[in-house]
Amino acid sequence: RDPNVKKPEWLRQRAPQGERFEEVKESISRLNLNTVCQEAQCPNIGECWNGGGDGIATATIMVLGDTCTRGCRFCAVKTSRTPPPPDPMEPLNTALAIASWGVDYIVITSVDRDDIPDGGSGHFAQTVRAMKELKPEIMVECLTSDFRGDLKAVDTLVHSGLDVFAHNVETVKRLQRIVRDPRAGYEQSLSVLKHAKISKKGMITKTSIMLGLGETADEVKEAMDDLRAIDVDILTFGQYLQPTPLHLTVKEYVSPEKFAYWKEYGESIGFRYVASGPLVRSSYRAGELFVKTMVK
Ligand code: SF4
Ligand code: SF4
Repeated sequence: RDPNVKKPEWLRQRAPQGERFEEVKESISRLNLNTVCQEAQCPNIGECWNGGGDGIATATIMVLGDTCTRGCRFCAVKTSRTPPPPDPMEPLNTALAIASWGVDYIVITSVDRDDIPDGGSGHFAQTVRAMKELKPEIMVECLTSDFRGDLKAVDTLVHSGLDVFAHNVETVKRLQRIVRDPRAGYEQSLSVLKHAKISKKGMITKTSIMLGLGETADEVKEAMDDLRAIDVDILTFGQYLQPTPLHLTVKEYVSPEKFAYWKEYGESIGFRYVASGPLVRSSYRAGELFVKTMVK
């Protein structure tokens, strides 16, 4: 962390609790599932697993392995040029486990797999299909890679039966090269989100931006305008936190008031829902957000 920037009070983690939380936690250990929520020690686990006021419990799982072919400078996932091939049984086994588990809304995410011809989109789609077959009422959000801009791969996933297509632009235009792997990019991410929206009528699209990496307010507004222009529905803002000393330093701890401002501003320019707060992550209370988006 930049020694001149001190971690503020509002980032202190809250201890998770609640009846639903205990129930979800118990079934996870029984099913031997690995959730991103637990592995990343996400501070929102209590809120997401309890499902908040609406009682819609959300959790995030990862498919396609734990090793990424890219190396973004904000991300602590391990990387390799040649990760092991995906487990062909993973779609079915994941779906079986999720179907017997007490969550209402599942976010499926993955590492980037530039080593696989379709970027893993077929495998991802099989997981969604199996899940919807086993438990049709479960709501599914996929938080995907950019598939190197391969729009056919985007189509495969968009038509798999998912409810929300999410892909993160991560940061403003100017900081893309500093923050993300060189194979990622602003225009490429926008083209993926744009294509997902037009490829299937009524598709809900979603993206996330981290704040605190040195972006200016004008640059954030520019990104928001670009996302509105391609009709992205849901936007989330959270504080960037440096995962290890080898990663990018935090330039600013953005105040809760400023996060609140971005929510208000975002909804005023037409996003259907904006979640914005220091500890917000792209899957933060995603089930509740989705339901609120649909009734708006
Ligand atoms: Fe991490 Fe995703 Fe970047 Fe891979 S592509 S290093 S998982 S942020
Ligand atoms: Fe899990 Fe995402 Fe919620 Fe964190 S924000 S607890 S990773 S669903």
